[in-house]
Amino acid sequence: MEKILFLAHTQEDGSLPKAALEGLTAALDLGAKLGGAPLSVGLVGGDVQQAADTIAGCGAEAFVAVSGADFAVSRYVTDAAAVEALVKQVEPTLVLAPTTARFSRCLPGAAYRCDGRIETHISAIETDGGTVQVQRWYYRQRMVATLSREQRPWFLVVDPGVFEPWQGASGSAELQQVAAAAPEGGVRTEVIGIEAPAADAQTIRPEAELLFVAGAGWTKKQADGAVHSKDAETLILGFLNSCKASLGSSKSLVDQSGEGETVLPFMSHLNQVGQTGSTPRHPKGLAACCHGEEPHTVGWRFIGERRAINLDANCGWAQGKADVLYVADAFEVIAKVNEMLAD
Ligand SMILES: Cc1cc2nc3c(=O)[nH]c(=O)nc-3n(C[C@H](O)[C@H](O)[C@H](O)COP(=O)(O)OP(=O)(O)OC[C@H]3O[C@@H](n4cnc5c(N)ncnc54)[C@H](O)[C@@H]3O)c2cc1C
Repeated sequence: MEKILFLAHTQEDGSLPKAALEGLTAALDLGAKLGGAPLSVGLVGGDVQQAADTIAGCGAEAFVAVSGADFAVSRYVTDAAAVEALVKQVEPTLVLAPTTARFSRCLPGAAYRCDGRIETHISAIETDGGTVQVQRWYYRQRMVATLSREQRPWFLVVDPGVFEPWQGASGSAELQQVAAAAPEGGVRTEVIGIEAPAADAQTIRPEAELLFVAGAGWTKKQADGAVHSKDAETLILGFLNSCKASLGSSKSLVDQSGEGETVLPFMSHLNQVGQTGSTPRHPKGLAACCHGEEPHTVGWRFIGERRAINLDANCGWAQGKADVLYVADAFEVIAKVNEMLAD
């Protein structure tokens, strides 16, 4: 019989990140598919009581925690020690956790210490006659593999955007504190603060409803024979600020800065979507002035509904890459949309 430990860490304000609530759904689904495998919740953070209470009604048979000032911050030594202690306490066969920057850093080491194995970027979990099978993508999301393992504990790190966030009754969770062994040589890394860009300067918003992708067309000569980069900048930023959309880019557009061409200053290679860029997950996507070539659209694999605006009725989006293609001038369309949003 499998035994599941679901792991989550708290955020700065003591709450659980959305990815953790999605991971909890994955853990509960898996427990149900395994005919009611027992589930424990393991929390790591400064003070985790509030987080435990918000998911008190999830049906877990136990809530265990490693908490305290040392565990409030993301740091490899303390996080790996915390996870190791929780796993040794619960003795699960399966450890489920959400893909967060904090867990991505410490879980592989923790799995090694527990003599376990780990699978990351999981996009589906199934069972076949009691055998757990996980799915993940390879080669820039072009090939999908289904894997199973005999080694236990098996750490399964679930990608965000795959499962619905858990919703249910909060309550008063009875937390069992677990002591984590101090790392040899003590804690040598001191976290003195976090520097993050202001919310408005942040164009990559993984949790946004909409991904807005800008292509190189924004900086190309338009019908009047001139380049309108400044207008493009105002229109795109206006749209992003109204919709709180996440900003993606084609490779051609972000490459232009390296080639000394006119660029949109808020764009960097971090925005690039595609084969050599990112593969974000958003319910909806809208591309404008982007041709929709395969190396770009492969990064749209996990976008729910895809739309594009292009002057060219024969662009790549029209070849089965988008659900809706607006054959129109993106400058005009986005200006109109911004006007409507401002009203
Ligand atoms: C190995 C490899 C890896 C690659 N990886 C990636 C990747 O990760 N991501 C990626 O994006 N690309 C990648 N590429 C490049 C990719 O093949 C394309 O070259 C690139 O996506 C083209 O960018 P674009 O569509 O913005 O520009 P363009 O091809 O120049 O298209 C601009 C589009 O804008 C339209 N347009 C112009 N003005 C307007 C207007 N006013 N209104 C509406 N439409 C307008 C034009 O009709 C045109 O279709 C890769 C290529 C290779 C070989």
